[in-house]
Amino acid sequence: MPDIIKLLPDSVANQIAAGEVIQRPASVVKELVENAIDAGANDITIVLKDAGKSFIQVIDNGCGMSATDARMAFERHATSKIQKADDLFAILTKGFRGEALASIAAISELTLKTRRREDELGTSITISASEVKKQEPVSCPGGTSFVIRNLFFNVPARRKFLKTETTELRNAIVEFQRIALAHSNVCLSLIHNGNEIYKLPETGLKQRLVHLFGRKISNSLVDLHTDTSIVKISGYLVKPEASKRKSDQYFFANGRYMRHPYFHKAVMQAYEKILPPDVSPSYFIYLDVDPSTVDINIHPTKTEIKFEDERSIFQLLMASTKEALGKFNVVPSLDFNNEKAFNIPLLKKGQEIKPPTININPEFNPFEAEEKSTPTYRGGNSQRIPYNWETLYSQNKPDEQVQAKREGQQEMDIGPMHHAPRFIQLKAKYILTPVKSGLMIIDQRRAHERILYERMLHTLKNKTGMSQKNLYPQTLELQPGDYALLEEVLDDITLLGFDIRSFGNNTIVINGIPAGMEGINVDKVVENLLADFKNTEQKAGKTLHEKLARSLSRTSAIGYGKELNREEMQEIVDKLFACESPNYSPTGKNVIHIVPLEDIEQRFK
Ligand code: ADP
Ligand code: MG
Repeated sequence: MPDIIKLLPDSVANQIAAGEVIQRPASVVKELVENAIDAGANDITIVLKDAGKSFIQVIDNGCGMSATDARMAFERHATSKIQKADDLFAILTKGFRGEALASIAAISELTLKTRRREDELGTSITISASEVKKQEPVSCPGGTSFVIRNLFFNVPARRKFLKTETTELRNAIVEFQRIALAHSNVCLSLIHNGNEIYKLPETGLKQRLVHLFGRKISNSLVDLHTDTSIVKISGYLVKPEASKRKSDQYFFANGRYMRHPYFHKAVMQAYEKILPPDVSPSYFIYLDVDPSTVDINIHPTKTEIKFEDERSIFQLLMASTKEALGKFNVVPSLDFNNEKAFNIPLLKKGQEIKPPTININPEFNPFEAEEKSTPTYRGGNSQRIPYNWETLYSQNKPDEQVQAKREGQQEMDIGPMHHAPRFIQLKAKYILTPVKSGLMIIDQRRAHERILYERMLHTLKNKTGMSQKNLYPQTLELQPGDYALLEEVLDDITLLGFDIRSFGNNTIVINGIPAGMEGINVDKVVENLLADFKNTEQKAGKTLHEKLARSLSRTSAIGYGKELNREEMQEIVDKLFACESPNYSPTGKNVIHIVPLEDIEQRFK
């Protein structure tokens, strides 16, 4: 029997290798731009057509290549970046495997034009599916330009695998952003189908963040900086209140984007408790370590990097994140355990009410000289006693006095002020009420959103079903395809108390809505629901129920401009504080703000 093992021809081997390195146009963009950066370029332009499926060009002003190097560059394992195995432990360049160009050339039609500054003429090489078609001297600018046409033209199975233009373009933009963040000192432009998407000048990191994510981000950035012998940590965190549902989270190690779930945990632990429940913080964190203490050699395209001392880096990262957040006073000064007790009676039946224990400054006289008029009380966490005006106020209000018995005891510790909370509505937008530490301001709309959101989540989770209110049936014509979308959530919204059925021909009929939501505009609610589902991509950690509850609570919460009477305000406040996370709206906005008494006192000095 003859021997059967043969060596694969290079073109086939390269095509197989290409499968690992190049999955889509975005991978080509990444490899070519990284090569340009390794070549010392500080000005790089990327031109795409059809999201890169038919055309990708990367032009740089880097060092260029000699005629021989230009030809060599396409051989597998051809690299100028390492020479011996030891070099692997000191890598500071992006590439070092010598695989990218060989791979790209195997699965596309490629033209390279390159010239070193010292050469008069440059070199042009044309390759199609690993086969060199032409090589000739050309006159061209110093630096390098790659043109990649018809990616995967000779691997139809892979070409078919490509996603829509929108998706592939988004992938390319993701790679672009990562590189742009790792190299703010490089000018980068991205042009797609003739439109300039980005033109990033050479800047500092903060400016680059503004260019990439918009001007608004600059006010919410917190500086991160720690320098130790193990790791140097730098970059920016985004303040909790500016955090969004969709967050931008980036780690870079030695100038290379990486994913690192373990370090991510360190950052999240630092943000713990100061973050609204439904958002996650954006961060841009740069770790610099001695290259010999990392292993980036795990997989050609994977973005995981292994560190020698991950535990220590974890601790350092968490500590410096905490410190940065603390230093910028990002941690809310609100003592919520205290405020939450507000008007939720905790006394058991028959339990004795303890006499108030407070250290009152006996010398305090509000009418005395200035420095004495802001007495400090020991033992209170910055709570000052309002002078006894409340008792005067509540004397004329017997109905409130009765309520006060029920609700007043949490205020026992600040003096004999038995009174019900009083509510004032401001601008048909805010509910104001005095609390121990000052004046509490509640955003009525956000509060109501939070209440509805938690109630809906609870209903969905426990499949309890909300009661229903019948409507005079309303029909609504949907856009083609929308009914299918609605069907996905039909069971759940039925559980919430909606009665919606298909009427055929993209028309639905709405027979009922949840009790308590009378007066809502059902068309709008359904329309918004569909829009929300279409716009937000399924994001890890966000369940269908959360999305549904968020969308519905947003569209059915009371608006600004709605006048509320005292009972309604009371109800909102009661229900808000019965929520698990009263501080934040479902979309992560502040619901409550407390103007501290000290601030008020300050104004009357
Ligand atoms: P690697 O980047 O891992 O070395 P590549 O296949 O990406 O492997 O590139 C092979 C070689 O081609 C590089 O080592 C470099 O010497 C050369 N090269 C690639 N792109 C450029 C460029 N834009 N400018 C100058 N040299 C380049
Ligand atoms: Mg490379």
